[in-house]
Amino acid sequence: MSDSRAVSGDTSNFIRDIIDADLAAGKVSTIITRFPPEPNGYLHIGHAKSICLNFGIARDYAGYCNLRFDDTNPEKEEQEYIDSIRRDVEWLGFKWHDNPFASDYFDQLYHWAVDLIKQGKAYVDSQSADEIRANRGTLKQPGNNSPYRERSVEENLQLFEGMKNDQYADGEHVLRARIDMASPNINMRDPVLYRILHATHHNTGDDWVIYPLYDFTHGLSDAIEGVTHSLCTLEFEDHRPLYDWILDQLETPSRPIQIEFARLQLEYSLTSKRKLNQLVNEGHVSGWDDPRMLTISGMRRRGFTPESIVRFCDMIGITKKDSTIEMGVLETALRDDLNARAIRRMAVINPLKVVIENYPEDQEEFFDGANHPQNPELGTRQVPFSREIYIERDDFMEDAPRKFFRLSPGREVRLRFAYYITCKEVIKNEAGEIESLVCTYDPESRGGSSPDGRKVKGTIHWVSARHAVDATVNLYDRLFTVPNPGAIPDFHTALNPESNVVMENARFEPAIELTDNPIAYQFERLGYFVSDYDSTPDKPLFNRTMTLRDSWAKIEKSQ
Ligand code: ATP
Ligand code: MG
Repeated sequence: MSDSRAVSGDTSNFIRDIIDADLAAGKVSTIITRFPPEPNGYLHIGHAKSICLNFGIARDYAGYCNLRFDDTNPEKEEQEYIDSIRRDVEWLGFKWHDNPFASDYFDQLYHWAVDLIKQGKAYVDSQSADEIRANRGTLKQPGNNSPYRERSVEENLQLFEGMKNDQYADGEHVLRARIDMASPNINMRDPVLYRILHATHHNTGDDWVIYPLYDFTHGLSDAIEGVTHSLCTLEFEDHRPLYDWILDQLETPSRPIQIEFARLQLEYSLTSKRKLNQLVNEGHVSGWDDPRMLTISGMRRRGFTPESIVRFCDMIGITKKDSTIEMGVLETALRDDLNARAIRRMAVINPLKVVIENYPEDQEEFFDGANHPQNPELGTRQVPFSREIYIERDDFMEDAPRKFFRLSPGREVRLRFAYYITCKEVIKNEAGEIESLVCTYDPESRGGSSPDGRKVKGTIHWVSARHAVDATVNLYDRLFTVPNPGAIPDFHTALNPESNVVMENARFEPAIELTDNPIAYQFERLGYFVSDYDSTPDKPLFNRTMTLRDSWAKIEKSQ
């Protein structure tokens, strides 16, 4: 099995070019990056792109990467999210150097804010939020200076201290940078640095009633940690002048630079924590780890391996231009990985009973089945066979066209590993539905070929009824019916009602294990499967991770 840290292939990109140039010019020596999630939700596939980028660079340049919680919105942040983020990053195979909170820096940030006031570069504004918005101007029109913009340094210091000391109500004052209300970049029009908020913070409790805003906090946190290259997504490009402005005004332990790259957008999925939260809260999915969700925890439950996700991130690369990635890219990364590692088994998810009338009732036998066709090191298992077996309902057709190479009345088919069988009779119930089949087998065809050279085109999978384990199987499809659910006015209208089909009567061959660390299985001809967290020994519950690309070609080849 490959280590996820060893998977990265061609990882050259424009960010690495910048780092190479900075190293060559002697601007930096140790490369330090950070992955800075806000703990207000679970990580999704988009975050995986940023994780692979930040941790991958730190690894390849023998530097380090911090996992920093950007926790400046106490009302939305929770311990549950912190725990899940740590678990997900570790599961993806990455190790952080430090795991600080931006809130650890609140004291230092406060002192820096005071420093800006003393320099005349920040002021307390007492306009309402609406007034501030109205006076900010538009893309075409400059903003208006606040009537409070010319407050003296002393007055500002006193007011800001009063804000900190809980003398005012939420929204009464804010601290703003004093830059330029006519700047063509709206982010530079005296952005708010601090707000009053009476909320309990998950890390600092009730110590603070003022909280710094993201733009003020981010670059300064980077500087405290010695981050050399602060990598963020393109929507922050217009914030870079502010990132630089703040660092230019203050004496900081280091001087990071910000570089932007394109966000991951993936077809048929949402990658916004707010919208994912909505799916969870409104009950459209069973939770953040619902196997249909492209959260890291949902993908883990679905049967994605960390290596397949890292492989996907390598495949899509890092660019400066937004684009939407086709789902097929993710599926290919997953299939390539699972094909190499999944243990082969036989399972029937929609069973049809077959009685082999010329096979002795009290007889059973065992076939040697390879656990993996290309990897003999993975060994073999014993596949039991007896007079009654289950086959897939889809593998039988009563009025079959000529090219149907599976079972139909009078036709012969090969049972994987076992014998040729011929369908003699179709048993139906009173409603005319097919209940079972009566077949005969050719004892000479043991192992799957006949001594008289008789050709049988089709091979189907099966499970011995007497030895079978009853199980439930979740079949998953895309959660949305349109390629870009995030772009339509109401994503609810595009929810796929068929995204989870539950098969209650599946039958497994007995050599399928339930383990704490689920084994990836390929059920022959059906796809890749993994046991769900809710599985119990009495009632195995499996999730279909992904279908096979071409189930027929594979079986024919492995004969
Ligand atoms: P969301 O809108 O889902 O809340 P976010 O960007 O606000 O996403 P953060 O927790 O702030 O989420 O993100 C942590 C890091 O992950 C940031 O550096 C962010 O740029 C990056 N990131 C988030 N979403 C994506 C994505 N779709 N593609 C690449 N990087 C992403
Ligand atoms: Mg964010």
